[in-house]
Amino acid sequence: MMRNLDEILNRDCLTKDEMVFLIHLSGENEIQKLHNKAKEIREKYFGNQIHLRGIIEFSNYCRQDCTYCGIRKSNNLAERFRMSKDEIISVSNQIYESGIKTIVLQSGEDLHYSKEDIAEIIIEIKTKFDVAITLSLGERPFCDYDLWRKCGADRYLLKHETANKEIYKEIHPYQKYENKIAHLKYLQNIGFQIGSGNIIGLPNQTIEDIADDIILCDELNVDMASFSPFIKAENTPLSNLPNGDMSLLLNTMAVARIVLKNAHIPSTTALATLDELGREKGILAGANIIMPSFTPYPYRGNYLIYENKKCISENPQMCLPCLSLRLSSVGVKASDSYGHSLKI
Ligand code: SAH
Repeated sequence: MMRNLDEILNRDCLTKDEMVFLIHLSGENEIQKLHNKAKEIREKYFGNQIHLRGIIEFSNYCRQDCTYCGIRKSNNLAERFRMSKDEIISVSNQIYESGIKTIVLQSGEDLHYSKEDIAEIIIEIKTKFDVAITLSLGERPFCDYDLWRKCGADRYLLKHETANKEIYKEIHPYQKYENKIAHLKYLQNIGFQIGSGNIIGLPNQTIEDIADDIILCDELNVDMASFSPFIKAENTPLSNLPNGDMSLLLNTMAVARIVLKNAHIPSTTALATLDELGREKGILAGANIIMPSFTPYPYRGNYLIYENKKCISENPQMCLPCLSLRLSSVGVKASDSYGHSLKI
């Protein structure tokens, strides 16, 4: 078993069976070996540098009804908010002033913001601040993506959530798996750096499914792959499901690092929600991105895609000193570069 593990970890290419074997590992020493290998690969590509992405969650209105998500359309207990363009620019300024070189604009699928509204925000951010922009606005018409790319947006994050089509259908009443993939490919074709990924702990999801998620990210040649634990959200159909398993998640991130090599892999806020030191553990298992939220009070308390979300009561500015201590505790520091894809 041990010899097997060493041998597998030294391979350049893994089969699906080997990925499943690695994700399954449960012995402390074996897990350590897996995570160390992932960390070694992260260090090979990124040294001791972590990229910070400042995220602004600017609207929690959503036309979709994803069964896991706290801001789904039919959650009538969600207190809805939208930030104005001026508010978004003012928070962008805070992100820029704090030295972070990527601004992530995320929202529910909210068509209240026309493609021109979003274009104006992109142009103003790009004119005023020297930053990269990631959009995470869900599925929009292809012509919206065209315009936003022309205005200078750099990246698009659109998680496929699960590569198991049956599960996909079950949890996304209005969306089609094939469309999600077509959108990702379109975004990539018009020059966006793309991000995808899954949720771990979905109903009926197997380790084989999770390996398929990693394989899909590899096939799509994503620039970023995000694996996050399912965390239950109040007043949703999945509110009784247990939260995703931390150890399964960390193993998945480590295997993703081994397979996807130089792709960006975030250590998500959801990890910190499961475990006080979750983000640090993610970095030690191969992650190289942290996405601190700059969504201002009082809105940040309402962007509740899941329960007990971390850091919702604090002033966003307070998070950075805390983060920098957390980073140094695991031997890394924040980079001052844009953190573009290493694949371009
Ligand atoms: N509307 C955008 C942004 C969605 S929110 C879009 O559709 O892409 C960003 C991510 O939060 C989602 O892609 C999903 O993976 C994650 N998420 C939502 N609810 C969650 C939950 N209950 N547990 C864990 N992750 C969740």
